[in-house]
Amino acid sequence: MIHIELSCTGFSVAIVGNNYAFTLGSRSRNLDMRALMNTVEIDQTLNEWHEEMKALRHDLHSHPELAFQELRTSSLIKNKLTQWNIEVVSAIAITGVVGIIRGQQPGSRAIGLRADMDALPLKEENTFAHASVHENKMHGCGHDGHVLMLLAAARYLATHNDFCGIVYLIFQPAEESGGGARKMMAEGLFELFPMDAVFGMHNWPGLALGHFGIKPGPIMASTNYFHITVKGKGAHAAMPQLSVDPVVAIAQLALALQTVVSRNLNPLSAAVLSITQMNVGNAHNVIPAAGTLVGSVRTLTLDVLDLIEKRVKELSLTISSAFGCEAQVNFVRNDPPTINHADETEFCLGVLKSTFGEDEIHTEIEPSMAAEDFSWMLLEKPGCYIWIGNGALAQPGASHGVVSCALHNSHYDFNDRLIDIGAKYWIQLALAKLPNQ
Ligand SMILES: [Zn+2]
Ligand SMILES: [Zn+2]
Repeated sequence: MIHIELSCTGFSVAIVGNNYAFTLGSRSRNLDMRALMNTVEIDQTLNEWHEEMKALRHDLHSHPELAFQELRTSSLIKNKLTQWNIEVVSAIAITGVVGIIRGQQPGSRAIGLRADMDALPLKEENTFAHASVHENKMHGCGHDGHVLMLLAAARYLATHNDFCGIVYLIFQPAEESGGGARKMMAEGLFELFPMDAVFGMHNWPGLALGHFGIKPGPIMASTNYFHITVKGKGAHAAMPQLSVDPVVAIAQLALALQTVVSRNLNPLSAAVLSITQMNVGNAHNVIPAAGTLVGSVRTLTLDVLDLIEKRVKELSLTISSAFGCEAQVNFVRNDPPTINHADETEFCLGVLKSTFGEDEIHTEIEPSMAAEDFSWMLLEKPGCYIWIGNGALAQPGASHGVVSCALHNSHYDFNDRLIDIGAKYWIQLALAKLPNQ
């Protein structure tokens, strides 16, 4: 039995169910529980479509496409949305697609639901029927599943548009280091389709199948790299006095950079600085004239990133100088940290708990030091990015039941059972966020 108390001012919503009980505070004042009650109908409808959606997911998995080359994927999405009478705008950021579902009631409110659609340059080692037919291309991050979760939700919302406002379906290219989110934004995503908030979701191995991970604040890290060139003066290996040896400077610098995280950072902050390449010299009897040091930096906040960039530059210049060398530092920031907005996260948490129950939802998750370019959208719009469990982490090859191998593994496969579960979250979120007046 469920009791729902709605306040007209929207400042207090309390739900008590057989398996769960929670109260939403004033920050969740827009959460309208009336929209969340029709779950049986949603389940039945999604279940009826399941085999068709699963076949589409397998089709996408077989035909993975890399960043900004998602022409076939984009065309499939466009065709399906059109078939379901959903307005479509395509060719945003080359292959990006935006579907538009207008509620029966007009209103100025609008939200964006985002799915990425690109694959990885990875050779698939799965042998099942829907394995990749393209050499060295693979849906190893489950973006094929992201597309299907959003397509299934779109199909439902198109015929159940008893809401007030607009749902924008954002099918984004090139998440995997390709800059797809930024390119869609640069081409007017938020101007062409004005929206109040934007939401993302990634399938997550290591989280029980169909469970969700959600937290306010940082959930994914920023990704950055540095490329340091140290210039000295080459000489015969037997005559070091004639050289300004960059090898020694680079070796000292590599060690000194280890102190940035351990000595400069607040121990309660998180960051990674990994040196991944040292390139210097190519002969046993020659002191080289120059060399390079390359590394990766991950942080959960921009403040920490500012600090690390500053220290990398300082150490490079001063240590090189101490050994008579010159340093040039190129510090490149790729994606910022993915930082969930507090209000939107609380709202999504309410939707998840009321839809799936308390036990399925995990708020004590640790952020991942991997990155996600949805972060760019969250810099401009309020929103929330969550994880949907693809199953407990297992060894490669055992990834098709309730367990899953890791993302970017050559044996990875999105679990089809998540199509309905993820779609149900999108549907409930849209209906709750855009309730009728
Ligand atoms: Zn990935
Ligand atoms: Zn991914």
